[in-house]
Amino acid sequence: MSNKTPTPDLTIHQKKSFQRARMSRDARFDGKFFIGVVTTGIFCRPICRVKPPKEENVRYYATAVIAQQQGFRPCKRCLPELAPEPRLALTEKQLLNALLIHQGNVNNSAKHCQLSERQYRRRFSLSFGVTPNQYWQQHRLLSALKLLRNSNLSITDVCFASGFNSVRRFNEAIKDLYGKAPSLLAEHVPKEATNQAQIKLPYQGEFDWPLMLSFFALRQIKEIEHVTDQQYARVFTLDSTSGYFTVIHSEVPNEQALLLTVHTDNFQILPTLISRVRKMFDLDANLDIIHQTIGGNENIRKVIERTPGLRLPGCFDLFEFTIRAILGQQFSVKAATTLAKRICVAYGLPCNANPLGMSHHFPDNNRLITANFDGLGLTQSRISTLKLWCQYYENNHQIFNYYNHIDEVQQELVKLKGIGPWTVNYFAMRGLSDPDAFPSADLGIIKALSEKGCAPKERIKNKEILALAQQWRPWRAYAAIYLWQSLSINE
Ligand SMILES: [Zn+2]
Repeated sequence: MSNKTPTPDLTIHQKKSFQRARMSRDARFDGKFFIGVVTTGIFCRPICRVKPPKEENVRYYATAVIAQQQGFRPCKRCLPELAPEPRLALTEKQLLNALLIHQGNVNNSAKHCQLSERQYRRRFSLSFGVTPNQYWQQHRLLSALKLLRNSNLSITDVCFASGFNSVRRFNEAIKDLYGKAPSLLAEHVPKEATNQAQIKLPYQGEFDWPLMLSFFALRQIKEIEHVTDQQYARVFTLDSTSGYFTVIHSEVPNEQALLLTVHTDNFQILPTLISRVRKMFDLDANLDIIHQTIGGNENIRKVIERTPGLRLPGCFDLFEFTIRAILGQQFSVKAATTLAKRICVAYGLPCNANPLGMSHHFPDNNRLITANFDGLGLTQSRISTLKLWCQYYENNHQIFNYYNHIDEVQQELVKLKGIGPWTVNYFAMRGLSDPDAFPSADLGIIKALSEKGCAPKERIKNKEILALAQQWRPWRAYAAIYLWQSLSINE
């Protein structure tokens, strides 16, 4: 085994808990750490079905990338490249996101994080135990392996989609590390290049797909989305590449996976698109742990019993989501959706023809920043807030990349007229998939936590709600979504 870079040391406590987790194949730890086996040179997920190796032959690693960088190869039985993405600390997530967005370019990643290149390298190495370059090399290889095994893409498309620039170097790198040419690793029959890619997105635990779809159906803007009781579809633009995608649940019995089909002529956007779709449908959540933390409340417990697969619906595009959240302040879902649709038609660009009849892209900030929002049925104060928000977003959207706790963002944003704590927490809860965001002033939450049928005056106070929510940390966003759901049980 190569041992060039020291990995961050584990505490004895961590080691003990990892040891217990791997002996019991505890699924709650899947994606949280990986096991390198010195005697075989293979690394596994904690859930792997192979006979557990002796402790003295085992090394623990925080990510698959690091295990691979340390010279281990991914196990063919548990497929570590498919493990759920770990929930990283916020600063680590920011460092890593920048590297992935800028395709391994350290200079641009450093700028993105507003750090010098030296600071960026130093912080990255301290957080991950490997340099940004090493991380990127291993990350592309694992992304390629994932696409080879889980998509119908041609070898050339997998090569570019995973961040390689030359097919020859891609073939060499794959062969060097995995011992086989890409075509032999691919489970699918590689097709000629098409403009349609199918990718399997695995998840673990319960997942109520119909409930997730009904949430999006209620908020559907038909110009940009198409939601049925089986499928979610929408158009997208990413880095000036556009297209549309559909998501259905796998039809293979007992297979825990969504099937994503992407229609586009440039697959380089795939890694970004996949991670957005995973977030949108909350595929990396560990519901067991979340239920244990929030299940003490009686209303929430009832929802867990009835719909244990309720997950946190996210969003595909943050800017679009913030506009829709502002429109949703003190409005019904239906009214807010109607207004969002009008904005979409008035300012959005038309999209390419598609069989689902979607006609527009939601306008980005470049288009909305000059909009006057006249004639759409919006009040003057709502228009002022939208204008103020577009201006603010233009200059400050980085705030969403660097905050440590949502309270910091709240302090900044509530200075804008028309933006209150509810909006900020709703941005964070669904726009950023921040699991601890909590719109405590939400009417639904107030209703769910108050005595049934009590007068408005008797309702639970905001202070009491916040105090109660302490016990649900760091999963208050889930408490919120479960409390909303509890209203539909009681009605
Ligand atoms: Zn394994």
